[in-house]
Amino acid sequence: MRVAILTSEAMPFAKTGGLADVSGALPKALIEQGADAKLILPLYEQVDRELLNGGSVENVRVEWRGQVHHVRFWYSDAAGAPTYLLEAHEFFSRPAIYGHNDDHIRFAFFSRAALALLKHLRFQPDVVHGNDWPCGFAMAELRARRRYEAFFQNTRSLFSLHNVGYQGFFDAGDLWWLGFGDPPENDDFRLDRNASALKAGIIAADALSTVSPRYAYEIQTPEQGHGLDWLLRSRRDRLAGITNGVDYDIWNPETDPHIAANFSADDLSGKRECKLDLLRRFGLPEDPNRPIIAMISRLVGQKGYDLIRQLPQQILETGSFFIALGAGAKEYEDFLQRWHDAAPRQVGIYKGFAGEPLPHQIEAGADMFLMPSLYEPCGLNQMYSMRYGTVPIVRATGGLDDTVQHFDPADGTGTGFKFGPYDAGALLDKIREALYFYARPEHWRKIQHNGMLVDNSWAAAAKKYLELYQELIKL
Ligand code: ADP
Repeated sequence: MRVAILTSEAMPFAKTGGLADVSGALPKALIEQGADAKLILPLYEQVDRELLNGGSVENVRVEWRGQVHHVRFWYSDAAGAPTYLLEAHEFFSRPAIYGHNDDHIRFAFFSRAALALLKHLRFQPDVVHGNDWPCGFAMAELRARRRYEAFFQNTRSLFSLHNVGYQGFFDAGDLWWLGFGDPPENDDFRLDRNASALKAGIIAADALSTVSPRYAYEIQTPEQGHGLDWLLRSRRDRLAGITNGVDYDIWNPETDPHIAANFSADDLSGKRECKLDLLRRFGLPEDPNRPIIAMISRLVGQKGYDLIRQLPQQILETGSFFIALGAGAKEYEDFLQRWHDAAPRQVGIYKGFAGEPLPHQIEAGADMFLMPSLYEPCGLNQMYSMRYGTVPIVRATGGLDDTVQHFDPADGTGTGFKFGPYDAGALLDKIREALYFYARPEHWRKIQHNGMLVDNSWAAAAKKYLELYQELIKL
């Protein structure tokens, strides 16, 4: 099975969110299952050049806007899989990965160049696996080129939707010179008076997947479909939900080099040291008996800060510490700053995108991890939390609902706490319920233990992707 995985971000090269964790881990897991997988992404300014450890592929011919470009791809095996990073200074040598008004042009070029690389390498994939709207262009282009290019005739496509809330909108007037001027591509991109790369990808791909079964169902409803539920319903026979895995080479408290002390399900003593270390890092009093509630997320509406900012006083009154790591919208950053300023001995914050150690230190040191998301395609931190004996408190949506089981004191089953309505009162009730059990160590140990023993490794997910690829090549 030859697979080319296209992505706009992947660990350890470039990351803004969970897509990077997934793209960085899946190719390696597929290779472990016997597939021949290659990963392709842009070479951004922030990619550590030391990772480019295998030379480069020169002079890859890319036809673009009536001209021929010759581009270079740098090679790396730092993700445990052959990885090719597209050098194109004009488009990718910028401080931020997304958020430029020519993003559609940048990722359309990336798609064109990635397919050109496959031809250059004479790597005829069985499946091109694209991820999120930046790869919608590749899905559309592949389908178009299959019509007249023998090289791609037998290549099938899978489009993974990690977040339907991001649709890659742009001015439909740009379609013709991006090479999508003719039907059916032109129509496939159009959405209202704009064009959407996500929509085109959903139509053009041979099959679709999302990152949890629950989210696969939710995006077919008007509440969660972000305006595309009708289209996703029309493709439901080709829409699978595969829950993301966890890369336990990276997220494992027994071996994690970033944390103050290692620990395991059998011996949690190191976790106490991690907790004290975390309190110190955030300048909070070193009181190991008070619970730490933590959050790590992009600061966007999706992640549930609208609920938390209704509860600053109530959360403080529980006596807990609150530690937040987040980057994003100013309104939420300002809220965190005000909250910290009002209670500097209880609320610890880090505003910005932190490098590798800090998220690990938070996972290891915290007692509870909060994810009150409005929607959550999969969510990774709740799974990381479980492995680190940090109990997740989540809203029952998307992958959070699939991966966290509510604690039942009657039989001692469950890995966390879940609330249903998107409502501050419901969140506060759940925090209080979790604190009730935190104060009863025999229950708390059980919840921690249950979570630490859950196996969310990539092997199971990679197997499901392989089965999906197998079905695709029969089409
Ligand atoms: P999403 O993909 O919607 O951002 P996920 O829970 O799937 O949410 O993945 C988020 C990933 O990004 C996790 O690995 C998390 O630790 C990381 N992350 C989020 N915000 C930050 C931040 N400010 N600094 C460092 N890592 C972050």
